[in-house]
Amino acid sequence: MSIFYRIFLVIIVFIIISCGSEDSKNKGWNIDVDSDIYIVPIGDVEEKYLSHLVPKLEERFTTKVYLALDKRMPIPDYAYDEDANQYVAMYILTEMSKKLSFPGDYKILGVCNVDLFLPESNYPFIFGQAIRGGKVALISMIRMNPNSYVGGKPNDELLFKRMQKEAIHELGHTFGIDNTYDPECVMFLPKDLKELDKKTDSFTLPAQQEFIELTKKKKK
Ligand SMILES: [Zn+2]
Repeated sequence: MSIFYRIFLVIIVFIIISCGSEDSKNKGWNIDVDSDIYIVPIGDVEEKYLSHLVPKLEERFTTKVYLALDKRMPIPDYAYDEDANQYVAMYILTEMSKKLSFPGDYKILGVCNVDLFLPESNYPFIFGQAIRGGKVALISMIRMNPNSYVGGKPNDELLFKRMQKEAIHELGHTFGIDNTYDPECVMFLPKDLKELDKKTDSFTLPAQQEFIELTKKKKK
């Protein structure tokens, strides 16, 4: 086989591979929303734990995402439940709805670092919560942080991936999308870190279709 023919084959294979990856990029795991998104620290959360969310959220929601560090809010005392030694996520969401507002059409993602729970539910804890179709969503880093557990080593890369998935999930609820049963979909409700790590950060087809239907209804 001549050297030119080999080079020609390599180029052809390269073109096929690049087309393939272009295709998967264009499959569209995103949704296209009208609202801007503002990220607000709730309590003590360092900026580096928020800034990595911006490009990922901009990609998934096809919109502008802002860090609103100056709107930082304390965790309300009344959200703490002494018996559970955890925080009631809905109380924090209520406080966010009351205290935070931004110009135009917007959604708010609060990020905190305390253990959240849902009273009278079977879940021992939750990664986050949102008001479905509302303006506010909340995630907590604490259960996603490999460093939070005995013997766990710091791993910011893994923490960032988990936070991105849960931020997209909870914000997805603010745009009206329900939990899905597809364990790969970002809208799947994970009961533990294993399930969270298994799912992707993408809206799979059923979640996208639900969003499209909701948008159509809104326009009617
Ligand atoms: Zn959910």
